[in-house]
Amino acid sequence: MSEHILTICYLVASVTFILGLKMLSHPATARKGNLVAAAGMSVAIVGTIFLPQPDGTILHNYGWIFGGLLIGAVVGTLAAKKVKMTAMPEMVSLFNGMGGACAALISLVEFDHVSKELAADPSLDISHIQTKVLIIVLGLIIGSVSFAGSIIAWGKLNGKIKDFSFPGQNILNLVLLALALGAGAYLVIHPGHSLLFYGIFVLSLLYGVLFVMPIGGADMPVVISLLNSFTGVAAACGGFLYDNKVMLTGGILVGAAGTLLTILMCKAMNRSLKNVLIGSFGASNAAAASAGVAGHYKEVSLSDAAMLMSYANKVMVVPGYGLAVAQAQHTCHELEKILNEKGVEVKYAIHPVAGRMPGHMNVLLAEADVSYDKLLEMEEANDEFKTCDVVLVLGANDVVNPAAKTDPASPIYGMPILDVELAKNVIVNKRSMKPGYAGIENALFFQPKTSMLFGDAKKVLQDLCNEIKSI
Ligand code: NDP
Repeated sequence: MSEHILTICYLVASVTFILGLKMLSHPATARKGNLVAAAGMSVAIVGTIFLPQPDGTILHNYGWIFGGLLIGAVVGTLAAKKVKMTAMPEMVSLFNGMGGACAALISLVEFDHVSKELAADPSLDISHIQTKVLIIVLGLIIGSVSFAGSIIAWGKLNGKIKDFSFPGQNILNLVLLALALGAGAYLVIHPGHSLLFYGIFVLSLLYGVLFVMPIGGADMPVVISLLNSFTGVAAACGGFLYDNKVMLTGGILVGAAGTLLTILMCKAMNRSLKNVLIGSFGASNAAAASAGVAGHYKEVSLSDAAMLMSYANKVMVVPGYGLAVAQAQHTCHELEKILNEKGVEVKYAIHPVAGRMPGHMNVLLAEADVSYDKLLEMEEANDEFKTCDVVLVLGANDVVNPAAKTDPASPIYGMPILDVELAKNVIVNKRSMKPGYAGIENALFFQPKTSMLFGDAKKVLQDLCNEIKSI
C-alpha cells in the first residue's frame, strides 16, 4: 500500500513540475510557478526518504541523507539570499553546474556497483548490465560536460575567466568528443574496463572546459541554455537508472525546456547548433572588430535630453545590462509615467539576449510593474523605430551595435540587433565609452543622430524625471 502512496507522491510532484513550468512562461505567474514546482519537489523528496521504494526497500542511512540535505539547504538559502540581482546569471550557471556534477557522481557510484556485481558473478545477464552501463556512461559524459562547462560559464559571466582559443581548437574539441563517445561505446560492449570509465570522465571534463572557453562575444546565451538542457538530460539518465519516475519526469522537462530555449536562442542569434556543439564559434576577435570604429561623439545635456523627450510623440526605451547594474528599473518606470502624463507614448524594445540571462530585461521590468503590453519583441520594435522621435538606450551596447550587420570580423556578426538608428534621435546613456560584454567598439555612438548622456543610469533617470516635471 505505501509503495502506491510513493507513486502518488511522484505523480503529484510531476504534475506540479508541469504546472510550474507553464506558469514560468509568463512574468505575472512566474513567482507562483516556482513555488508550486518547489512544493512538488518537497513532496517527492519527503516521499522518497520515508516511504518504501517500489521494490520494498526502505532507506536507512538517515545520517548521510539529512546531513547532505542540511548542508545543501543552508548553502543554497544563504547564496540565494545574499546574491545581488546583477550576479543572478552567474549563480544560475553555478547551480546548473551542480546539477551536472550530481548526475556525474551518480554515474561514478553506480559504475562501481555494477563493476562489483559483475566481478562477483560473471554469469550475470550481460544485456541487462550493458543497458545499465549505457545509461551510466551517458549520465557521466553529459553530466561532466555540463558541470565543467557551467563552471567556465560562471567564471566568464563574473569576468574572472577570459575567452581563450588556439588554432585547431575545433578539431581538438571534435577529437575529444569522438574519443569520449567511442570509449563509451566500447565500455558498453565490454563493461569490465574500470580504467576506461575514468578516462571517459576526464575526457568529458576536458571537453566541457574546452568547448566553453573560446565562446565569447554574443554567443554565451546559447551555450548557457544548452548546458541547462544537458543537466536535465543527465538527471533523466539518473531517473532511468533508478527507475525513479519523478527524477525521470523532472530531467526530461528540464532537458526539453532547455533544448527549446537553445533553439530559440540560436534563432535569435542567427547561429547553428552544430557550431555550438563543436565550440570555438564566436571566439572573440574584439581587436580586429574594433579597428576603424572611432571618430567624434557628441554629448547632450540633461535639459536638452529632457526637452527632446517631453516634446516627442513617441519614445522607445532600449534597456540593457547597464540598467540591471544600476538597478534603475523603478526610476525608468517613473520616467515612463511622467512622459505619459505629458502625452508622450512610451514603449520598450526588448532584445532576446539583452542583459546576462535569457529573459533578463522582462524580469527586471516586471519587477518595476511595467505593463507587459508595452514590451515589444525585437521584430516588432524594429518595425516601430521609424515612427519614434527619440530612442533612449539605457545601459545597452552590444544589442544595438551595427557591427552585427556590417562587420564580418566582429564576434557578434550575424546577430540580429535593434535598429535604433531608424528613429529620428538616439540618446545613449552609459557611464563612459567603454565597450559592452563582447568587448568591441560601437559605431552607433559616433553617428550624427546619436547623442551620449553619460552617467549612472539611475542617477541620470532621476535627474531626467525632475527636469521633465519642471518643463
Ligand atoms: P552590454 O554588456 O553589451 O553593455 C552594457 C553597457 O551598460 C556597457 O557598455 C556599460 O557601459 C553600461 N553600464 C554598465 N553599468 C551601467 C550603469 N550603472 N549605468 C549606465 N550604464 C551602465 O549589454 P547588452 O544588454 O547590450 O548586451 C548583452 C550582452 O551580454 C550581449 O553581448 C550578450 O550576448 C551577452 N550575454 C547575454 C546573456 C543572456 O542570456 N542575456 C548571457 C551571457 C552573455 P559603461 O561601462 O560605459 O557604463
